[in-house]
Amino acid sequence: MQESLEAAAHIRRAGFTGDLIARMTISTVSDVYLDVLHLLGVGVFDHVHWQLDVVWSDRWHKFDDWSEKSYIPGIRRLAELWVEGLRRGVLYGIAPFQGITKGLIKGGLQAPPCGAGIDSFTVTTDGRILACPIAVDSEWAHLADLPARANDLVGKVGIGEPCTSCEYFKYCGGRCLYAHIERLWGDEGFRSVCRTVKTTVDVLRTHLNTIVKVIDEGIISQDDLLYPSYNNTVEIVP
Ligand code: SF4
Repeated sequence: MQESLEAAAHIRRAGFTGDLIARMTISTVSDVYLDVLHLLGVGVFDHVHWQLDVVWSDRWHKFDDWSEKSYIPGIRRLAELWVEGLRRGVLYGIAPFQGITKGLIKGGLQAPPCGAGIDSFTVTTDGRILACPIAVDSEWAHLADLPARANDLVGKVGIGEPCTSCEYFKYCGGRCLYAHIERLWGDEGFRSVCRTVKTTVDVLRTHLNTIVKVIDEGIISQDDLLYPSYNNTVEIVP
């Protein structure tokens, strides 16, 4: 952690002025509110993004309990802080909030939000083209081999049920293609993670009128708030 922060500070000192994103995994020992605040407070990052360390890790002992007692309350507090900042003309670069809000304002996110298999592909050193960079040993993700045409790749794998029938699909996009297909925590574990997504969307929905108002009143620029402006590898939905 300390090395990463020093590296980020070094990049800034070296003159980098682009978008510097702090990315972290949220695990059972995380406090999303404190951890995001810490990274914002470091003062070198433009955006903070996180993903839940779920599905590709062993199933947490008490995920639902942690989610209800720590994560969801943390998301609510963080959203209040974020919106309070917007009211004052301060935009905290909280990538999941900005990305989901973009979906709420623009009518939805692509599925999956990271673009895996849609507009994001991985080329491995042995020439395979994968839909998802972490699915290195999953046959479903192996779309083609080099050389390949775009038509051979796009849309060969995608998000299906239960997401396509879910009322949150528009704003969740199925969250994660790998998790969607692999379901390593089973359907029950899948639903547990969904609860965190649905609540996050609902929390941001409750603030939507205020967010639209600060944009309409010119307190915050819509272009700055709705993030990312292009697929920059931020998966959006934690
Ligand atoms: S909330 Fe769950 S079921 Fe609904 S679209 Fe997202 S991942 Fe799929």
